[in-house]
Amino acid sequence: MATFRPHVHQIDAYAQAHFLKEERQDPITGEAFVAGDSIVFCAACRSAFLLESWQYMGNQHCGQGQTLAQFPKSQSLTLSKSKNVAHNLTDLRHAKKEERLLALFIDMMVLPILGGIWIQIIGFILNIVQSLGSIGLFFEGLVIFIGIIVGTIPLLARDFIGGKSIGKRIVGLRSIDRSTGESANLLQSFKKTLSLPFEPLRFLLNRQDPKTLGDSWSDTIVVKD
Ligand SMILES: [Zn+2]
Repeated sequence: MATFRPHVHQIDAYAQAHFLKEERQDPITGEAFVAGDSIVFCAACRSAFLLESWQYMGNQHCGQGQTLAQFPKSQSLTLSKSKNVAHNLTDLRHAKKEERLLALFIDMMVLPILGGIWIQIIGFILNIVQSLGSIGLFFEGLVIFIGIIVGTIPLLARDFIGGKSIGKRIVGLRSIDRSTGESANLLQSFKKTLSLPFEPLRFLLNRQDPKTLGDSWSDTIVVKD
């Protein structure tokens, strides 16, 4: 996708009084816009974003990267929504770092326990299958295959089901594709897990950036569910 240089507008307390009166908030940070803020309007849905939030979303929204060159004049214009926008990212709230860490901690505690239980179940089934004699031989391979697939996907792609790992479900977070707004898919979720060992390095190199390495690589953001 082409990246456009965003049209940035600095909110003027007088010229944009109509806009400030609407008391709108940045969809990502949840903070109300104030005079002096540098903002960008998505050309598709006309939602307003702080410049940093726009950049955080990869300079795109509604699956496109164009921004309004003119500060919208009327309220009706700024609130009108394009019909072909299937998703609505404007109501989303970005997850806090502590919430994400808590969800990760819960996953780290719960997944090994579930893994242990799963191995016990598979072992139990294998015992039964082996007692069947020669016909059991085919099923033995099948049980091991299913055991490995079902046992490893939740570990390698934790957010695969509905964009939520167990920890995210408990904390109330969700991983979504940052341009479509849909839940993270298997590949995106897998990329996030692969990035995990390198996240501390990313944090040390850039403490200001709210994105994790996995967010960038997988093109996802984590939001409150
Ligand atoms: Zn939009």
